Amino acid sequence: MRVPGCVFCDGDAGVVVHRAGGFRIVRADEPGFPAFYRVVADGHVAEFTDLDDAARLRCMACVAAVERALRSVLAPRKINVASLGNVVPHLHWHVVARFDDDRCFPAPVWSLPLRDDAAPLIERLRAALPALDAAVASAAAAADLH
Ligand SMILES: [Zn+2]
Repeated sequence: MRVPGCVFCDGDAGVVVHRAGGFRIVRADEPGFPAFYRVVADGHVAEFTDLDDAARLRCMACVAAVERALRSVLAPRKINVASLGNVVPHLHWHVVARFDDDRCFPAPVWSLPLRDDAAPLIERLRAALPALDAAVASAAAAADLH
């Protein structure tokens, strides 16, 4: 099902690095957080339990694949995984690499910035994006459950 006006139905909402099994992995363009990926259901479902068992497993395999790639390429301080959907009630999981010197750490990425000197980190992360996208795609392909 597609819902007109839903940002995840109307488009990919990011750079697609992998798509399979009813899900896509996109790199979001979140200001200040280059290493920010989302696992998005292709169909418009609101809740995790709207998926059947097999789809939930595929979804979590995608989340784990992104986390694995982020850890491998970036060695971040922490990975944040979240599914909110309060603003866009279309199932998606955020998978974000976090660093001591990112603008909000240790608060959530949606918090007010705690520092404004994150430019060196952002530049370093942007330089790693091609390798990171390739690692995410590879990890996701290896984890594909059909
Ligand atoms: Zn939607």
